[in-house]
Amino acid sequence: MVLKLVSFSKHVIFSFTKTIIILILSFILYKADSGCNNSITTSLVQISPYDVIISLQSQSFDGHLSLKDNEDAAKDFGNIHHFPPLAVLHPKTVSDISRTVKHIFEKGSDSELKVAARGHGHSLQGQAQAHQGLVIKMESLQSPEMKIQTGEFPFVDVSGGELWINILHETLKHGLAPKSWTDYLHLTVGGTLSNAGISGQAFRHGPQINNIFQLEIVTGKGEVVTCSENRNADLFHGVLGGLGQFGIITRARISLEPAPKMVKWIRVLYSDFSKFTRDQEYLISLKDKIDYIEGFVIINRTGILNGWRLSFDPKDPLQASQFNSDGKTFYCLEMAKYFNPDEADVMNQDVDHLLSQLSYIPPTLFLSEVSYVEFLDRVHVSEKKLRAQGLWEVHHPWLNLLIPRSEIHDFAKEVFGNILKDTSNGPILIYPVNQTRWNSKTSFVTPEEDVFYLVAFLTSAVPFSTGENSLEYILNQNKRILDFCTHAQLNVKQYLAHYDTQEEWQVHFGSQWGAFVERKRTYDPLALLAPGHRIFQKAVSSSI
Ligand code: FAD
Repeated sequence: MVLKLVSFSKHVIFSFTKTIIILILSFILYKADSGCNNSITTSLVQISPYDVIISLQSQSFDGHLSLKDNEDAAKDFGNIHHFPPLAVLHPKTVSDISRTVKHIFEKGSDSELKVAARGHGHSLQGQAQAHQGLVIKMESLQSPEMKIQTGEFPFVDVSGGELWINILHETLKHGLAPKSWTDYLHLTVGGTLSNAGISGQAFRHGPQINNIFQLEIVTGKGEVVTCSENRNADLFHGVLGGLGQFGIITRARISLEPAPKMVKWIRVLYSDFSKFTRDQEYLISLKDKIDYIEGFVIINRTGILNGWRLSFDPKDPLQASQFNSDGKTFYCLEMAKYFNPDEADVMNQDVDHLLSQLSYIPPTLFLSEVSYVEFLDRVHVSEKKLRAQGLWEVHHPWLNLLIPRSEIHDFAKEVFGNILKDTSNGPILIYPVNQTRWNSKTSFVTPEEDVFYLVAFLTSAVPFSTGENSLEYILNQNKRILDFCTHAQLNVKQYLAHYDTQEEWQVHFGSQWGAFVERKRTYDPLALLAPGHRIFQKAVSSSI
C-alpha cells in the first residue's frame, strides 16, 4: 500500500478549522490499552500539531528545527510507506531532545503531535516516520565524542545516532570492537537497539541488545534517565528491543572485545535441507570454535559457484568447475573464523578439522581470507554496486521471521519447496541462534525454544516492474508465507515486525504484552513516541 502524500498547506487549513470546531467540548481518550482503563477527562481546547510546532520555534536549540525541505523524513529503505512530518528537529545536544519532548508532553492530550526518532532511515515500513508529526534526526546528535574504556571489561560510549561503521573504525584504533553486529553497518545504534541487532555472531554473543552495559534515555515525558542492569533496570530492559516505545536512546555503552585482524570466510553448499540444518545446529552448539554462522537459500539460479569466484577460491578448482547447480535449490552454509596472522597455521588446522565433520557437497567448498573490516562491512560493497546500477533505492518488501527449530522443516518444505519454488527476488537468509544467549528481560520476544532460526526474505522490486518482479507480487508472496504459518499453527515471530492493529501486536508480544503496556504507561503515558509502529494511539482530545 502506498500512501498518498498529504500537502502541508491543506493540513494547516484543516487543523485550524478543527481547532475552532472542537472549542465546544473534548473528551480525552486514551487507547493505550485496547480493552480497558481508558481514562476520560475533559478539555476545552485542542491545540493543532502545527501550533505546537510553532510554539516549539520559540525554544532555543543548540541544533535547529526545520519546517521545510523535510521530504527525506518521509522516506525509508522499504520505500513503501511515506508519511510526511510537519517538522524535523536536528538536535546537537541531548537537552535539545529532552526540551522538545518535554514541551510536547506538557501540552498534554490536547495535541495530536507525535514524535519519531529517526536513525539512518533504514526501516522497512515507516517505523521511523511520524505522519504530520515531528521527526528527530538522531544522526545530528554527535556530541559528546565517542569514549573508549580499555581494561578487563572494555566498552565504548556512543551517541544513539552513531553509525555502527564509525564505531568499528574508532574502536579498532584501540585494538577493540563490539562483539555482536548486523550484516550491514550503516545503521544507527538507536535504530538497531530498538529492534535487536541480529547477525552471524548472535549464536555466540546474543543480539546487539545483549551487549549493552548502559543507556541514556529521553523518556516520553522529556526526562533524561541513565539506566543499566542495576539502575532503572526496568527502563533499560524495556528500551532494548522496545521499538522506540519507551524513550529515545541518546547514548549507549557498548561492550567490546579484542578485535582480530583477519577473517577466514567459508562457504559450502547442501542440497539436503536436513543435513544443512544439522550442521548449522552442530556448529552453533560449539563454544569458541567458530565466530560467525549464517546461511542462505539459493532457488533456481545458474552458475552459483562462478559468482563466488570473485571473492572466494575453491578448495578443489577442478571439482568445482565440474559442479552443475542449474535449476536446483541449494542451501549455503556460511561461516567465519577470526584470527591474527601469527595464528594462521593453528586456525587452518582447526578449520580443516571442523570442516571434516560436516556433510556438505565436497566440490562446493570455497574459502577466502579478508580483513576484519572488509568482512564486517561486506554489504556496503554490494550497496555501492547496486547504487551504481540504480538498484538500491527501490522497493524492499522484506519479511523477517523467527522460527522454532522444531518447525523449520515444515516451514522449509512448504515455503522453499512450494511457495517460492520458481522465484527469487533477492537473498533468503537462514541461520539458527541459541535462545540461551538472549536476555529474556528485554522487550524483544522470541519463539519459546532453545534454538530458533532467523529466516529473512530480502526481496526488492524495481518500481514499475510487472509480474513476478512487481511489488504487488512479492507482497502477496509474503502474505502467502504468513498465511501458511498461521494455518499450520507455527509459533513464528516476525522480526522488524509490521502490523496494522493493536490486536496483532498483542498476539506478537503474547504473555509479555501486559508488561509492554505497563511500560508504555510509565515511560510514555501520552503515547508520543514512535507512532510508525502503530502499536499505541496517542492520548488526544476528541471532538463531539
Ligand atoms: P531507523 O530505521 O531510522 O529507526 C528504526 C526504529 O528505531 C524506528 O522505530 C525509530 O523510531 C527507532 N529509533 C531510531 N533511533 C532511535 C533512538 N535513538 N532511540 C529510540 N528509538 C530510535 N537488522 C538486523 O538485526 N540484522 C541485520 O543483519 C540487518 N541487516 C540489514 C541490512 C540492510 C541493508 C538494512 C537496510 C537493514 C538491516 N537490518 C538488519 C535492519 C535494521 O536493524 C533496521 O532496519 C533498523 O531499523 C535500521 O536502523 P536505522 O538506524 O536506520 O533506524
